[in-house]
Amino acid sequence: MDQQARLDVAAEVLHALGRPAVILDSINVMVRATDEAVPFGLMQDRPLIELELLNLVDWARKAGKTETFEGAVNLGGRAAKTWVLATAAPIGQGLIALSIEDRTEARRLDETRRDFVANISHELKTPIGAISLLAETLQGATDDTDAVTKFAGSLQREATRLSQIVQDIIELSRLQSASIVDHNDEVDISDVIQESIERTRVLAEVKRTRVFANLEPGCALGNREQLITAVTNLIENAINYSDANSQVGVAVVHRSDFIDIVVTDSGVGIALEDQARIFERFYRADPSRSRDTGGTGLGLAIVKHIAQNHRGDIAVFSKPGLGSTFTLTLPECGRSHSE
Ligand code: ADP
Repeated sequence: MDQQARLDVAAEVLHALGRPAVILDSINVMVRATDEAVPFGLMQDRPLIELELLNLVDWARKAGKTETFEGAVNLGGRAAKTWVLATAAPIGQGLIALSIEDRTEARRLDETRRDFVANISHELKTPIGAISLLAETLQGATDDTDAVTKFAGSLQREATRLSQIVQDIIELSRLQSASIVDHNDEVDISDVIQESIERTRVLAEVKRTRVFANLEPGCALGNREQLITAVTNLIENAINYSDANSQVGVAVVHRSDFIDIVVTDSGVGIALEDQARIFERFYRADPSRSRDTGGTGLGLAIVKHIAQNHRGDIAVFSKPGLGSTFTLTLPECGRSHSE
């Protein structure tokens, strides 16, 4: 088979595979490129210039066999580096077939998962350590009933905290693996708000905080339970991060095609640099206050996931010392919402 015929066959095979791939000649010019390769800056009749890929190609040519490379490369037309799995295979007559697989997203997910596991271990260590310490102290204080009562109370608090963290972790993992919620469910927003206020009633009573709501009718597309979880988390935070005897407001705002649930408090507020990070898992602007309120650092990460699962959004407006407003935006019923 002459080189031209070989090239044509190889190019057909690559096209059939439907992935980013090129064929390089003996001086590393891309003589064929699939459509999928173009977004990676790999185009026909251009020389391959990415150093790592050139090394891989030369290596495969010298070795006379298929070689692979996984790592970050600078590909044309992309500002950030792309994490690729590249395979170079000699196909005869000095030609090399080079295919690449973009693994950037898979790697990011892996990293997120690794971080999450590391964070979880760290977060669980504190209450578990406290529980074993308290149990030990209890053992040595069996004659002192006052001490037993005191340590037993602390033990119970730590156990509750541990169980809250575990519950939130399970909730978050469930939400992360869930796909976009079924958009055919029409959820009554005033019912969601009423139920959320009900679930925060005990906390509000303890903090002597009044939660006001304008229960005007509204309908969002989504999942009732998830929306109640999100609004409950926002109201809980509004109460927790305000002084006792405060007021919290919940309002419904209709915007074109979308409906906002707005939770406002006049509490401690959030510094601008923290506002960008509070939706991250386990991020706390004021760790000691969060712990005092029994916070897990997961509440807003859960809200963010619920918003995303609804193709909605969550935003914060806050001024330290004045208070915060969280706006959960959801697709409204009866409108067409594109992907
Ligand atoms: P936590 O369990 O610590 O409350 P969240 O994920 O719910 O975790 O919130 C993350 C952080 O954002 C909190 O630790 C707190 O610093 C800040 N935060 C959340 N809501 C409010 C609010 N309404 N007012 C002030 N700070 C808030």
